[in-house]
Amino acid sequence: MTQTTAPATKTAIVTGGASGIGLAIVEKFIQEKIKTIVIGRDEEKLKSAKEAFGDLCITVAHDLSDLSGIPALVEKITQEHGRIDILVNNAGINMKKPFVEVTDEDFQRILLTNVTAVFALSREVVKNMLPYGEGSIVNISSMASQYGIPKVIAYTASKSAIEGMTKAMATELSPMGIRTNCVAPGFIATAMSAKAMDNDPERKNKALGRTPMGKFGSPADVAEAVYFYTTEGAKYVTGTVLPVDGGNAIGF
Ligand code: NDP
Repeated sequence: MTQTTAPATKTAIVTGGASGIGLAIVEKFIQEKIKTIVIGRDEEKLKSAKEAFGDLCITVAHDLSDLSGIPALVEKITQEHGRIDILVNNAGINMKKPFVEVTDEDFQRILLTNVTAVFALSREVVKNMLPYGEGSIVNISSMASQYGIPKVIAYTASKSAIEGMTKAMATELSPMGIRTNCVAPGFIATAMSAKAMDNDPERKNKALGRTPMGKFGSPADVAEAVYFYTTEGAKYVTGTVLPVDGGNAIGF
């Protein structure tokens, strides 16, 4: 992993940045000299990220499903770090269960983290961005929003909601200089998902079979797309969804 002693160019918040795709986004940002505030729940994972990335990486333990704590969380970050240029809403949870077994509580739990917390955090961060007339918010959705995936009802609903919310935010916030976009990953080989696929060759072959590029993506592939949205090169790009999925979204 890369550490740098150069001064920061921008400040970003990345939720769920201590593992999987989020960790790759943090690594990319640190390489690009962006001071990166990582929000997660697991203190051990946060500690490892801090050790790996050094001074430009700031870690904050917070359970984002605690909505009432979000305004104070962002207020504290603002007091300590000032202007926030970038927010990446990456934290997300999933659950696989047959449709009729999903309880109201299951459904609400997934929607709380994957949608409501994204809304609440974005709202508070936008208050920080507004005085500067500039900001970039990148939400991580999923190819699940394109398909009906069996036994993944709440997650699929949540990721479709994220894409709709991103577009609504873009229409309202773009005139104030704040761009909002989505990256929709396909099959990405994180440590956890790779293990699950290796233990289930049938599932793995099915996933590869519907991916025109015939291979899984890496967290770094997603990180590159996220980073693009935060750059000058994307200054006229808002309200979009960029699939990073080896062609899955074509739906062949
Ligand atoms: P991981 O499970 O590896 O990472 C999820 C991260 O979210 C963890 O770091 C976790 O932190 C954090 N998180 C979850 N709930 C909360 C919470 N309530 N408060 C704070 N942090 C929380 O998943 P991935 O890296 O695979 O996924 C990242 C994103 O990409 C998700 O939004 C997912 O839906 C999306 N995605 C992933 C795909 C894949 O193939 N991997 C495909 C499509 C989309 P902690 O451990 O500290 O709780």
